[in-house]
Amino acid sequence: MTNVPITVARGNGIGPEIMAATLEILKEAGARLTIDEIEIGEDVYKRGCSTGIEPASWETLRKNKIFLKAPIFTPMGGGFKSLNVTVRKTLGLYANIRPCRAYSPFIQTHHPDMDLVIVRENEEGLYGGVEYKYTQNVTESLKLVSRAGSERIVRYAFEYARANGRKTVTCMVKDNIMKISDGLFYEVFQDIASDYPEIKAERSIVDIGSARVAARPSNFDVIVTENLYGDIISDVAAEVSGSVGLGISANIGDGFAMFEAMHGTAPDIAGQGIANPSGLILATIMMLVHIGQGDVAETIHNAWLKTIEDGIHTGDLYKEETSQQRVGTDGFKKALIQRLGMKPEKLKPVSYDSSQGALTIPPLKEDKVVSRELIGTDIYIYAKNKDKDVNGFAREMQAHLLDGLELSMVSNRGMKMWPGDRAESLCSDMWRLRLKGTSLPLAGTLVAQQIVKFADSGFDIVKTHNLYHFDGKEGFSKAQGEG
Ligand code: NAD
Repeated sequence: MTNVPITVARGNGIGPEIMAATLEILKEAGARLTIDEIEIGEDVYKRGCSTGIEPASWETLRKNKIFLKAPIFTPMGGGFKSLNVTVRKTLGLYANIRPCRAYSPFIQTHHPDMDLVIVRENEEGLYGGVEYKYTQNVTESLKLVSRAGSERIVRYAFEYARANGRKTVTCMVKDNIMKISDGLFYEVFQDIASDYPEIKAERSIVDIGSARVAARPSNFDVIVTENLYGDIISDVAAEVSGSVGLGISANIGDGFAMFEAMHGTAPDIAGQGIANPSGLILATIMMLVHIGQGDVAETIHNAWLKTIEDGIHTGDLYKEETSQQRVGTDGFKKALIQRLGMKPEKLKPVSYDSSQGALTIPPLKEDKVVSRELIGTDIYIYAKNKDKDVNGFAREMQAHLLDGLELSMVSNRGMKMWPGDRAESLCSDMWRLRLKGTSLPLAGTLVAQQIVKFADSGFDIVKTHNLYHFDGKEGFSKAQGEG
């Protein structure tokens, strides 16, 4: 059988220690791999490369398509973008798969039956990285949710459930508040779920849903959710399963995939030889299944389970009641290698189908044709000390309106301040004027002329958002208190 080329980065902090152990286990288990190593992260930043990754490394990643990555350090502040997010987005790794299960009684947990998988959207949501500071007072982080992005991740979740014999997919959203963005995610979920009648489709509001993951994780099977929610829920799930150190993260795209442990570089224990390599080993097992080497994945996973059930534990998992021997990274690796070919006796052994390989995800559905009509615009103005006389401010703005537009509302921090009684809530120095066309369709040129008119009149325009109807339905949210 031919070797599969993969790219490996040993990373920073405990990365080199856990990667060395993992690569030796792969070799001893007979993984059919050809390894190209790249250097990314700390030392690359130090060499003056502000992205933390050099062009030649991108070439290697694009050539090999499969990436096994140890944790890396991204410098704080100074305008550095997270290299992890850059890699995910550059290679289009839209699906983040994070399985979390208990290994009770060998690893202590209050939830011995938990065995769930979080399928997290990996490119959009609040991780779009589109942020602004508009005024001294106001900042914004843009949350982007697209129909195509939602469809791909929801499909991935259902295909994953089908391929792995899972029974339920739960969609976690906050669509009672974010009716448009999370509303779209849930609408797509309902649509796609109908293609998988054998799998139960459930919805949960993310706040109570994550509380239930913490309190009753065994009630969940597959969870599909947006980027930030998925990040938070998976840390909660990993923690209640017994150890964040066992968390794994597979990042899958069309043709490309990256596998890593969920934890970071653990600088507090780096270089001491005591790090638990299990997160990276378990991520490697997912990689082997993905590249069609289920046989090797099975051998390593069963040996890992046997090592754990024999009570051979690194310091992060060691407990007097459940452990037999405290080992370091090297000791754990040696114990696992000794057990290659063995199966656990108390924990359930795993079996992987070598023919499974990467999931095949059906193509996106065709976009439905909808009518889209411009009906108004929201113009944001930087204006200080207007909260004492919002009526006067509204009159001032009305005096500069062009024919064909009317001021329908003034809001601050999402709360309606005019017309009607001014709300009691705090006002910032950025005001939103909602202008609507007095007759439709509204011409885009009129909106542009209005912006110029306000600017010419000395108003400080921060940003504008156009308002549309889609098939006659509003494609924008109302302000709190707006009729
Ligand atoms: P961390 O996960 O590195 O460490 C949190 C705690 O868990 C520490 O006490 C650490 O000792 C312990 N820990 C983590 N992994 C362990 C292991 N394998 N064995 C035993 N103990 C382990 O989180 P952090 O301290 O918030 O982040 C440290 C650095 O890692 C930061 O620079 C961050 O940017 C980076 N980071 C990288 C990734 C990645 O590359 N995927 C992910 C998260 C954080």
